Amino acid sequence: MLKLNQIKQKTDPGRINRATDVLGKLETVVKLQGPAPGKYIMEFLYKMQSGTVPGIYYNVIFRTLSNNLISNDNWKALGTGMVPLTVNCSCDDFKYRWEAVLWKKDASRRMLSNGEMPNVTNPDHKTAMCKHCVSALNLLKQYINRTNFDNIGVTTNRHISPKNLEYADRLRLELANRKVKNRK
Ligand SMILES: [Zn+2]
Repeated sequence: MLKLNQIKQKTDPGRINRATDVLGKLETVVKLQGPAPGKYIMEFLYKMQSGTVPGIYYNVIFRTLSNNLISNDNWKALGTGMVPLTVNCSCDDFKYRWEAVLWKKDASRRMLSNGEMPNVTNPDHKTAMCKHCVSALNLLKQYINRTNFDNIGVTTNRHISPKNLEYADRLRLELANRKVKNRK
C-alpha cells in the first residue's frame, strides 16, 4: 500500500511542474455506508483539463480502501495525503506507465491497462503518477481541509453498491477515453 504523498514524491519534477497547467474540478463525491456504522467508503471523481489540448478532459478517481473506512476520526488525515487510497486517471500516461505498477501495490485499480508490467514505458517500475493526478491531489487536499465530513450527504441510491460503483466508473473512464480517441 502506498500513500498519495509517496507516489507524488516519486513523480518526476517535469510532471509536477506541468501539473500547474492542469485545471480541474470535483465532479462527484460518493459516500457509501461501510459495514460498520459511521464508517464509509469514499470516492472523489475529478474532471481535469488535459493541460495540453484544449477541450480534452480526463477523469481522475480517488477511492478509499475497503479495509480503511473513513469516519469523522480520520477525515482530516485524508487531506494530508498520508492515508492510503487508490488513484486512477483516464489518460494514456497513466494507462501505459503507472496503472499496472500502482495496481500491484494496491494503490490503483486495474481499469484501463492490461495489468502487465510496463517494461518499456516504465522499465524501473517507478510508482509515480501523471500530472492530472498531481493536480487533482492538490484539489482533494483543499476540499477535505475546508469540508466538514458530517455535511457530506450519504449516497443512498440503493442501486450503487460498491460493486456497481466499480462498474460505473470503469464505464466512465472508458467513455472518457473513447471521446478522446474520437477527437484525434
Ligand atoms: Zn492523467
